[in-house]
Amino acid sequence: METIVKKGKERGMYENVLEQFEKAADLMDLDPGIRKILVNTNNEIVVHFPVKMDDGSIEVFTGYRVQHNNALGPYKGGLRYHPTVDIDAARALAIWMTWKTSLVGLPYGGGKGGIQLDPQKYSESELERITRRFTYALGDNIGPDLDIPAPDVNTNPQIMAWIADTFAGIKSPSVRQKNLHVVTGKPVGSGGLSGRDRATGFGVVVSIENWLKLKNESVSGKTFTVQGFGNVGYWASKFLVDKGAILIGVQDASTTIVSMDGMDPEELLSYSQSNNRNLKNYPAAATILDEDFFSIESDIMIPAALGNQITSINHGMIKAKLIAEGANGPISTIAEKHLLENGITIIPDILCNAGGVTGSYLEWLQNKRSENWKMEEVLERIEDKLSEAFRNVYKLAQAYDTDFRTAAYIAAIQRLEITYKERGVFP
Ligand code: NAD
Repeated sequence: METIVKKGKERGMYENVLEQFEKAADLMDLDPGIRKILVNTNNEIVVHFPVKMDDGSIEVFTGYRVQHNNALGPYKGGLRYHPTVDIDAARALAIWMTWKTSLVGLPYGGGKGGIQLDPQKYSESELERITRRFTYALGDNIGPDLDIPAPDVNTNPQIMAWIADTFAGIKSPSVRQKNLHVVTGKPVGSGGLSGRDRATGFGVVVSIENWLKLKNESVSGKTFTVQGFGNVGYWASKFLVDKGAILIGVQDASTTIVSMDGMDPEELLSYSQSNNRNLKNYPAAATILDEDFFSIESDIMIPAALGNQITSINHGMIKAKLIAEGANGPISTIAEKHLLENGITIIPDILCNAGGVTGSYLEWLQNKRSENWKMEEVLERIEDKLSEAFRNVYKLAQAYDTDFRTAAYIAAIQRLEITYKERGVFP
């Protein structure tokens, strides 16, 4: 379970997502039948599959795909390659995807999955065989009109290309082309969307700007810290620094670094790329203890790594006025109560990082229409969708006198409630 447990106090991500749901459902007085439907996942697929390693030995891996709800459209959500992937993590992440796609008004439901493994331990060719065999094991449980995976932690466009190729490759040649959009986040040369790589980080910055606009402020001159310097952490940092914000602290899985003069995201990225994807021993900043990361004083803090990073143990260290959740589920429900009491605003994951799935939707649409869209057009559409969702969340937060997360849940659940009420429940 992706959690930090101290004497059984802290909850796992799955318990967190259910508690967040209950709070919103109570406040909006959700129909009890629909409540029962939404706390359950529709399908939970666990596959064990063998793969031949480079040295000729065989290893068996465990992969997951949880499909939470598809009332609004096909299941949609990432695949994660990480040792913390298990059924509870996949459930929590799938449920968040349902709320996210509903909140942003996409024709999707929520799914999530991955493989429990540390990708650093495998060669490129082993990762390719693991990915292809996992895709084969999932078989017809995924598909372009059924369940469409995308990149998440430790998965990237190359992995998406292998999935697309394997999935389409096991279909009849006559329908091969119709199956390549079984995944989004593909490389541009393989039907990927120009701008999908930066969509999540871009969306995080759009959300931060929407919040600052409420106070007639801009990001220029604001200091920020970022936890996780992968896809989301890098792109959010890059867009913010380009707009005049100052990156003063970064943490990745290997180290925690600070520089009050500010750091250049592009330099950090090129160092990380030449250093086995980590920032350890980065020369142009000071290294501090990992546990001191949250006490760096900044205006904005962006968690962009894993879930349950801000907990009952460390929430008191945070001095930022705004936490913009790039990661899914980075704050435990216990920590969130204290942060809100201390006047810290949280832009919740299902809104803040929804640029990624919005980009994925545009890629899927582009594939369905056999078109190629320009990056400016893509980013403009993402900005429109996220800003509209932000305005809706803000309105509901005021109407219900509640925090942004609960308001975002209410917006997401309202759309699902209407659908269930209109369609009824078969038979
Ligand atoms: P990534 O694999 O590209 O990067 C993950 C980063 O987190 C790496 O820098 C890694 O070193 C760091 N990290 C891992 N464990 C850490 C730890 N214990 N402490 C500090 N840093 C740690 O992953 P990503 O795609 O950027 O995803 C990051 C988060 O954003 C995840 O929670 C993911 O679910 C969420 N998210 C991603 C997307 C997307 O489009 N990629 C979309 C929405 C949400």
